Amino acid sequence: MAVCPVCNEKFDSGDYYTMAIHFINLSKDGDAYHVQWVNRNISKNGLNVMQFTSAIESFYNMGNRGIKEWIIHKFVEQFLGENLHPFILKMQSYSKPLMMGYAVEHYSFLKQWVKSCSIIVSKTDIDEVQRYEIENILSRYFGIGRKKPYIELLLQMGEDLGIDRKRIFNMEPMDCTKFAISRWRDIANRFNWIAIMAAMHSLELIANGKLTEYGAKYYYFNPEMLNSPSIPDSVKRFLGDHLRRDDSRSFRALDIMAKYCHDYNMEDIQDAYLMSAYAFDRYLEAILERSKMFESQ
Ligand SMILES: [Zn+2]
Repeated sequence: MAVCPVCNEKFDSGDYYTMAIHFINLSKDGDAYHVQWVNRNISKNGLNVMQFTSAIESFYNMGNRGIKEWIIHKFVEQFLGENLHPFILKMQSYSKPLMMGYAVEHYSFLKQWVKSCSIIVSKTDIDEVQRYEIENILSRYFGIGRKKPYIELLLQMGEDLGIDRKRIFNMEPMDCTKFAISRWRDIANRFNWIAIMAAMHSLELIANGKLTEYGAKYYYFNPEMLNSPSIPDSVKRFLGDHLRRDDSRSFRALDIMAKYCHDYNMEDIQDAYLMSAYAFDRYLEAILERSKMFESQ
């Protein structure tokens, strides 16, 4: 089965023609979300039905690359390539309101993150996968060895920027974050462990510093910020943690997935990834929206 990553509508496996008509009709109706997804992932030029069908077909086609390479390429195209996501652009210089918005929205993201990782643990008996996910959860909530928990680095940054952690606990996330969280919950409930793994750990690619060979134009944030005396240490500690963490983590998860994927339906893995990447796109917009609220205060 193929799924529209934007609205979740389902199509028969490989029925890219009906999917193309779905996108063309909704774009004609001016549905901003579908238009945006098409512009970012398929083409900015108005394609006719046949052109659109073959564009979607090649979008899904993995060729000889395998699922890991396919996901990395799609992720870079959507967030870090020529169509740079506005959030990444904003992260190239320090902005206090941006980091405040990050602290608030990312707290909700993290709560869902550990739930999704726990569901992966509950859906597999493979030792390597369970250990990987448990370690991931531990690092987020408790820290490993002498490393502080990731969630603590986030909350300390928020406090340093003037938002008490109790306020963060009680703040309702933006609507786009709520949408993303319910989408991730849905993926965790509906898909098998390997598809959930593809959906969640692909998102860690955002801070992977080794993606230039895949066409990434920018790093997650400008690394110069880590040396700037005018940026609070808590922000540098939080951002610096990504630098050390995500290169190996995101590749390792995708390697595990690639190792076991042959027993599973590849289209389901692709769908789970695409649905999650779309949710992530909206969630990054939510951080920008939240930071605008802090800017105007
Ligand atoms: Zn749709």
